[in-house]
Amino acid sequence: MNLILLGAPGAGKGTQAEVICDALKIPAISTGNMLRAAVKAGTEYGLKAKAAMDAGALVSDDIVIGILKDRINEPDAQNGFILDGFPRTVPQAEALDAMGVTIDKVVEIYVADEKIQQRLSGRRVCEVCGNSYHVDFKPTKVEGVCDGCGGKTVIRKDDEPATVLDRLKTYHEKTAPLKDYYAKQGKLVTVEGQEEVSETSKLTLKAIEG
Ligand code: AMP
Repeated sequence: MNLILLGAPGAGKGTQAEVICDALKIPAISTGNMLRAAVKAGTEYGLKAKAAMDAGALVSDDIVIGILKDRINEPDAQNGFILDGFPRTVPQAEALDAMGVTIDKVVEIYVADEKIQQRLSGRRVCEVCGNSYHVDFKPTKVEGVCDGCGGKTVIRKDDEPATVLDRLKTYHEKTAPLKDYYAKQGKLVTVEGQEEVSETSKLTLKAIEG
C-alpha cells in the first residue's frame, strides 16, 4: 500500500508515519529527515537546501523530487511506503504521478494553526537519529537525552516561533491545495488530530483500513 500523510508542520505526521510503519510493515519516508541528514553530511544538495529550510521555506521541487525518486526505488519500498512531508506542492504530486506511482490513500492530519504553534514550541528532536519528542506530550525518559540512541535532543532551528509562522504560511499557500488535488481523485481522508497521540493513531489506522 502506498500512502501519503498530509498536514501542516507539527500536526503529527511523523508520529503517525511511525505508527503506520509498525502496523503495516512498510517504510516511512520523510523528505524532511532525508534533507536534514544531507545538511548534516554537507552533501551538495544539503548545502543547497539549508537556507530554505532554516527560513521555513520549501526546498526546490527538483531537489526533493530527485531524492524521493531514488528513495522509493530502494528494495524496502517495493511493497509500499508512507510518505511523510512529500508531496508538498502540486508539481511534486504531478511528478509522483508521472513516475507511475499509484497512491492508495492520502491521510490528512488536521490540527488548527493556533494549536500547532503551541505544539511546535515544545518539540525536541534528537540531533543524532532524528527521533522526535515533545516536552509535554511525548517527553524523553531522561530530559534532553534521546530514548532511542542516547543522543542529545534539541530545538529544531525551524521550530523557532517566527519560522513556524512562515512554515504555516507556506503550508497554506503551497501544500494545502493538494487536499483538492487528491480529493478529486477520491483518495483524501481527514483525521482530526487529538490531544492524545494514541487516539489520533487509532483514527489514522481506521482511516487507512476503511
Ligand atoms: P519537515 O521535517 O517535513 O517539516 O521538513 C523540514 C523542512 O524540509 C521543510 O520546512 C522544508 O524546508 C524541507 N522539506 C521537506 N520536505 C519537503 C518537500 N517535499 N518539498 C520541499 N521542501 C521540503
